[in-house]
This record gives sequence, C-alpha cells and structure tokens, in this order.
Amino acid sequence: MTVAVVDVIVDRERSLGVAWEDGRRLDIALGELRSLCPCAGCIGVREQGASIQLPSSLSAISAELHGNWGLAIRWSDGHETGIYGWEMLRSLAGEVGG
Ligand SMILES: [Zn+2]
Repeated sequence: MTVAVVDVIVDRERSLGVAWEDGRRLDIALGELRSLCPCAGCIGVREQGASIQLPSSLSAISAELHGNWGLAIRWSDGHETGIYGWEMLRSLAGEVGG
C-alpha cells in the first residue's frame, strides 16, 4: 500500500521533513539522512561495518523529486547517487516515532 506524500520541506542546512496524507511525518537531520544513503557505494561501506564519512559541515545543494519514486539529493560533499525512496523515508518515519 502506498500512502501519498503531501509535503516535502527541505532545510538545506539542517533537515528534511516529509508529511504523508495519513498524518505520519518524518523530520530527519541531514547528517543522519546522508549516512543512510541508499546508493550501492554507501550500502557497500555499511556492509563492511564502516560508517559513511561525513564532512564537518554538510548541506543539501538540491533536492529534486524523482518521479513518483522518491527524492534525489545532491550533497555538498559531491555525493548525489543515492535516491531516497518514499517507502524508505516512511519506514524511517516509523522508527523516528512519527
Ligand atoms: Zn551513497
């Protein structure tokens, strides 16, 4: 079942907010989101038990809707290959306590 996203709020210096039509909300710090990057490279790093190296100041240069599928974020560290699917973000919202 897919619940529609009704709002996306990008604070490029701090956080990403997503709201779903059933009232669930996600508000996640950019550093946390970056460390959860779903691209193959970052998954490989995490599978080796390492953590993603974050720059001391991380911001989102842009965040663009990727069709109906999710959100593509370009990071200030040059990383841009990860696309955050709505389903992934929604499961994060559950963990965060939304
Ligand atoms: Zn990545």
